[in-house]
Amino acid sequence: MRHIAIIGSGPAGYYSAEAAQKKFGEDVRVDIIDRLPVPFGLIRFGVAPDHQSIKAVSGRYEKVALSENVRFVGNVTVGKDVSVDELQDLYDAVVLATGAPDDRKLDITGGDLPGVFGSAAFVGWYNGHPDFADLEPPLDGKHVAIIGNGNVALDVARILSKTRAEFGGSDIVSHALDVLETSSTEDITILGRRGPHQIAMTPKELGELAHLDRATPRVDLRDLPDTGEDALLEPGMRKTVTHLREFAAIPEAYRADKQISINFDFFAAPVRIEGDGKVERIIVERTKLDDQLRSVGTGETYEIGCSMVISCIGYQTPSIEGVPYEHGRGRFANVDGRILPGLYCVGWARRGPTGTIGTNRPDGYTVIDAVAEDIGEGAGKAGRPGLDALLDKRGVQVVKFSDWKKIEEAEIARAREGAPREKFVRIEDMIAAGG
Ligand code: NAP
Repeated sequence: MRHIAIIGSGPAGYYSAEAAQKKFGEDVRVDIIDRLPVPFGLIRFGVAPDHQSIKAVSGRYEKVALSENVRFVGNVTVGKDVSVDELQDLYDAVVLATGAPDDRKLDITGGDLPGVFGSAAFVGWYNGHPDFADLEPPLDGKHVAIIGNGNVALDVARILSKTRAEFGGSDIVSHALDVLETSSTEDITILGRRGPHQIAMTPKELGELAHLDRATPRVDLRDLPDTGEDALLEPGMRKTVTHLREFAAIPEAYRADKQISINFDFFAAPVRIEGDGKVERIIVERTKLDDQLRSVGTGETYEIGCSMVISCIGYQTPSIEGVPYEHGRGRFANVDGRILPGLYCVGWARRGPTGTIGTNRPDGYTVIDAVAEDIGEGAGKAGRPGLDALLDKRGVQVVKFSDWKKIEEAEIARAREGAPREKFVRIEDMIAAGG
């Protein structure tokens, strides 16, 4: 029998478990350990609440979770309740599928002023992550600045713009919905340090900005390269840029009845955030591209008055003591998922925060191929009973998948009308609902 521990119950964790089931059939026992009492990581806490069709992938993970040889071990923190070394003693393979839940640091003066938030915190707040339930972002100002030109910047701009009616059918948590409804936002400026041809936004997500009830995007035609240059782009990117051209062509008359303008400010690098005890303005430097398409400052600066800054500049994997880590790239040091003998990583913890949810599927299968090559038939380790004995001795209250199903049932029962669920945002409430 082979024993595998997977740390993290997001997409990378479940695809790896699915791969292990397919590879080893009945000859494997997989424990998926998560520090939270609820599974699915990024699907629950990262994917935007108004993108329910993407969240539906958790149905596939549930099929894996409900099979005999895969187990969810929730409410167990690796590094506190059990160490990586202990897990390595108990399991033939330990796979870190911890994702990239920490923000890449915004390293500018004023980056720590009240009113500056990383996207992990802001997204976690509207998605009901227990770590960020008490965030209280100030939505009483007229202008919000968003840093970064990726899909997370788009999610944040869209969530800030939608009306209560537009959140119908979403599982945005009520604490966020109530505050967003009273927001005074009139301008959202999305700062990109490079140009329209360098953005990391995908076409479908960008296109959504053109269909909002009370907001409309604004792009300055002068920022766009000559149309002919779009032909050099790969097709997806060309579609993205076509959306920007459509935004630039939106007539002023159409904007008149829209409360919120979502302004794209390209070639704009944040250099400083200022304010008296809280965010009041962001100082931005005009940039240009060098011959390798990197942004370089021109020395020309200007300020944008704003009361909140949300930095959406990418994520990183939290390091774990004793596990080799690549600091520049915010992920574990690894070769094709192998970190050390018996220790592996997968998904964003392996490759950094790039790609779609589906990218984690081949990643999971690849890491399990490596595990299979390395562990043979298994070394007769203690596996599940060993972990249970250890956690029991330490008085850790484990949440099982059947407990999660009770939590889910309670969340569905308390949903507001039209919503799929109302998430519990406190760990103690989750545990209580799980019985
Ligand atoms: P991302 O795609 O890597 O975008 C990060 C953005 O931040 C880039 O525009 C980058 O500009 C900019 N940036 C980085 N450091 C900066 C700095 N110091 N100052 C100013 N700008 C800076 O990251 P993300 O938006 O967090 O998304 C993470 C992953 O999740 C991506 O693969 C994304 O596609 C995916 N995602 C997908 C969806 C969806 O499909 N619906 C939704 C959300 C996220 P440079 O290019 O100049 O470095």
